[in-house]
Amino acid sequence: MRALRSVILFSSLIGVTLITSCERNGDFLVFSVQNDVDLGETIAEQIAEDPSFDILSPQQYPVSYAYVQSMMDEILESEEVTYKEDFSWKINIINDPSNGPVLNAFATPGGQIYVHTGLIYFLDKEDDLAGVLSQEIAHADQRHVSTKLQREYGISLLLNVISGSETSSLERIVSQIAGSGSILPYSRDAEAEADEYSVRYLASTQYACNGAADFFEKLLRNEEQFQPEYLNTHPSPENRVEDINAFALSLGCDTTIDDNSALRYVNFRNSLP
Ligand SMILES: [Zn+2]
Repeated sequence: MRALRSVILFSSLIGVTLITSCERNGDFLVFSVQNDVDLGETIAEQIAEDPSFDILSPQQYPVSYAYVQSMMDEILESEEVTYKEDFSWKINIINDPSNGPVLNAFATPGGQIYVHTGLIYFLDKEDDLAGVLSQEIAHADQRHVSTKLQREYGISLLLNVISGSETSSLERIVSQIAGSGSILPYSRDAEAEADEYSVRYLASTQYACNGAADFFEKLLRNEEQFQPEYLNTHPSPENRVEDINAFALSLGCDTTIDDNSALRYVNFRNSLP
């Protein structure tokens, strides 16, 4: 059960496409940027109140938060980030539940980013985590999350969620975004776009700009932990590695990994519970 839970939750990160959609992201988005921010904050409040999410407190884990915060700040410094000033960017670390690790990270509309300790422990250098975070930042910044929610729920219902009159829909949205219920898969286009933006964002940071590819390679090396059908995503992790590396090459950005990347990352992991 533990493995299956990891697999199911992880699938939201690697973007299992359960529905076929060729619609280009953003084509019909009429939600405003401020709506994204408000919906994200509403979802974040709901997650904070939900006892099934054990969010580590920044007061209790200042070293851990200083590390992920500086990583996120550096990524957000990229000129490729569209809503750096408009979104209420925030990073949250979710502690694994007692029944096993959760290999997941996710974003709300408007810039609330969440990463589970299970995924942090799965990775072994900071460039990998930078790849994962920049991918999630891209899902928020390219408005994939609000596009997806608008498609599924419609704009008037989402506005009611923000105003607090649609609590059951809010709970459903949280379980979809956070992966604890039926997942909210991104389209193939959205995943490819997030992969590309992760390279663009990381190009101006100290991290290897193909960090997301490293993360998928690690996933492939640990394939036996995951059910093969979950690796057969669309695009597959193999193709994503190739595409990310090809894009990094075309951009000419730095893919070297600092000698101390793994050491700094281990120190960060040791600051966690
Ligand atoms: Zn993704």
